[in-house]
Amino acid sequence: MQLEQIHNTDLEVIENKEYENAFKNHALFTKYKNKEVIALNKQYFDISFDYLSKFHLNYEIIYLDNVSYETLYNKFLEHRTDKEMTKVQQEQENSSFIDEEFNVSEFLKVGSDILTTQDSAPIIKFVNSLFYQAIKKNASDIHIEMHEYKAEVRYRIDGVLTKHLELDKNIMALVISRIKVISNLDISEKRVPQDGRTQIKLAKENLDIRVSILPTFYGERVVMRILMQSENIVALKDLGFNAELTNNLENLARNAYGMILVTGPTGSGKSTTLHSLLRQIVSNEKNIITIEDPVEYKSNDISQIQVNSKVGLTFETGLRSILRQDPDIIMLGEIRDSASAKMSIQAALTGHLLFSTLHTNRAPAAITRLIDMGVEKFLISSSLLAVLAQRLVRKLCTCKEIDTSLQSYKAFDINKNTTIYKAVGCNNCNHTGYQGRVAIAELFTLNDDIKEYLKSDVDDNILMQKAIENNMIPLDKQLKDMITEGKTSVAEAIRIGIK
Ligand SMILES: [Zn+2]
Repeated sequence: MQLEQIHNTDLEVIENKEYENAFKNHALFTKYKNKEVIALNKQYFDISFDYLSKFHLNYEIIYLDNVSYETLYNKFLEHRTDKEMTKVQQEQENSSFIDEEFNVSEFLKVGSDILTTQDSAPIIKFVNSLFYQAIKKNASDIHIEMHEYKAEVRYRIDGVLTKHLELDKNIMALVISRIKVISNLDISEKRVPQDGRTQIKLAKENLDIRVSILPTFYGERVVMRILMQSENIVALKDLGFNAELTNNLENLARNAYGMILVTGPTGSGKSTTLHSLLRQIVSNEKNIITIEDPVEYKSNDISQIQVNSKVGLTFETGLRSILRQDPDIIMLGEIRDSASAKMSIQAALTGHLLFSTLHTNRAPAAITRLIDMGVEKFLISSSLLAVLAQRLVRKLCTCKEIDTSLQSYKAFDINKNTTIYKAVGCNNCNHTGYQGRVAIAELFTLNDDIKEYLKSDVDDNILMQKAIENNMIPLDKQLKDMITEGKTSVAEAIRIGIK
């Protein structure tokens, strides 16, 4: 059968009772020759005829060629996005956790100077609003995930993912295309992971965004990390550590050479602490070079290198090149293998102050980790100055309630006469029960006593014991104090995962 295909790219969306459902089945309501008709395209015949046969819609059917069909289809998508946008905006206006000065028209004004071209396009507005809302809510990351039937946007706030909104998958696909455009990524490539960066201007502030796209079974998954400018880095004394520890840390950072390590799981604030430290010691007389993955804070005062494994620029090769650049202070994003461990120790022994991170739960465990990586104990003794193990703990919102559960008392061996609290959730805290985070840390300094012990067979438990004898306040003790002072909950302390 030869079909008569119509070419017409000026067709418009017709909104009626059935149009949404029809659209999902590739049957598009439109007006043709002054009649309401259903437009189909032969690529989707199996879906659309299956649908039409079930519903017996009394409309004339026309067949569009591919170009005309795609054009009309995109108009439907835009139409729906507009509706979704209005819905999102209404929700935003109704929700009390957004402070009063925020209103949508204001946002659209600010939003329009953010990015390039066609500021009226709803997708652009929508993507801008994602960033805007993320900043408003103090989110560090924006996650876009495709599920089987829907797509979802989540924000990471205070270290925890929180649902922001759900969208139609087709619309989200347009959103992802838009994100690719602004990050200079290949729009047509949907089968391989892509990484990019973009910069947006929001309310007079420039934001750097790192974009990572990964193909998954149900579609592409996008994670956008909002990077901070180093001017916005919190000062060391404001990170939340106790005054004595801050003081000790500052003194350690004044050493001319040696190694200082920061440990803790991903998202425990290690790079923030390292950058606060670097900021503290920046001076014209010092050559500071970092190699990071990613460069999380951009600074004008230090030379920062981004790891790029595609061109062979790894922590190890980067460090080797840095050493030829006559540095005073080096920050290596992470020690992840024997080679980078040995090279770092070497750098620390030859007149450089080196900062890095290591994946261990507790501070004293860094010693055994380095030994496992093949570093000689006498080299650790003579180069390692200290290890800081840290965590970010969410603070209870004022909506907290008294926790009477016996299990909570048991978990941290808390005296029964002490009042402790649990999270509840209110509008102020986005219904999480928590507001803000505070950093806690244990600082393990290698004094003569520890160095002497390193000559014998090293055991993690004995190291911990010796560290406590030498005035290290262990993380679990600090967490327990936070619970009994009503600052955080047992559930949060457990989530932190010290025990
Ligand atoms: Zn609350």
